[in-house]
Amino acid sequence: MQNIIGFHYTLKDKNGEIMDSSRGRPPMLILTGAQQIVPGLEKEIIGMKKGDTKTVIVAAKDAYGPVQEQLMMTVQRSQFPPEADLTVGVQFRVNNDDQQGIFTIAKIDGDNIHIDGNHPMAGKELHFDIEITEKRMPSPDELAHGHAHGPGGAHH
Ligand SMILES: [Zn+2]
Repeated sequence: MQNIIGFHYTLKDKNGEIMDSSRGRPPMLILTGAQQIVPGLEKEIIGMKKGDTKTVIVAAKDAYGPVQEQLMMTVQRSQFPPEADLTVGVQFRVNNDDQQGIFTIAKIDGDNIHIDGNHPMAGKELHFDIEITEKRMPSPDELAHGHAHGPGGAHH
């Protein structure tokens, strides 16, 4: 059975450094079973009730997966269009026969541009401080759309 679950989260890496938080924003609102959050987190929060708090530790394999070496590449500056913004941190979409996905410019070394197609959180163990703020049945519309409606969910 699918549920709507609202929750606040603070995401830390394993050294306790905060990477993201919903505090100060509406809680995140998800429809369970719709692959809206990493599977290792959903598995834990589906058993929690409104008002429950918990620290959930999700291994990299249950979050964004391991770092894939083959997604870290060096390409020549001349392979980019002349108008491209070649700055560390810039993201661009690649869509060709060999690769597709979002790549980030990781390092620039003269004409060698090091790019990385891994998710920024790939290879990281994630620590979530969770507080459940809402738990209810989905409406027929929410089930049909495959997402939650309202603050923190979809607006339309
Ligand atoms: Zn909708």
